[in-house]
Amino acid sequence: MSGQEKIESRRRFLKLAAGTAAAAALVSGLPRVARADDLPHVSEADPTAKALQYVEDASKATAKNYKPGDTCANCKFYSGAATGYGPCDLFPGKAVSAKGWCISHTTKQA
Ligand code: SF4
Repeated sequence: MSGQEKIESRRRFLKLAAGTAAAAALVSGLPRVARADDLPHVSEADPTAKALQYVEDASKATAKNYKPGDTCANCKFYSGAATGYGPCDLFPGKAVSAKGWCISHTTKQA
């Protein structure tokens, strides 16, 4: 390798290293918590969902303790937006429907 080739090779390496550092900085700047939109939705067929009689649409709930008006959106275990899907403490890593409901519903205190 000639002197000129060595310099070129080093330049390419430095460019690559700078690019990698920039990419790493970009990644580390992203929020650590997965956004609710990215979480997989809880399926009614999920064993935990079945055990808790979770339904995507609260109006279809058949459990005795269901009270009309109760939804995930007004449950204390829900931490998402009033519409769409959001995280529930009882389904870590997944999102429940804001319009959903399950037998563990506990009304959020204002
Ligand atoms: Fe919805 Fe609350 Fe049941 Fe979670 S615990 S699924 S937020 S009703």
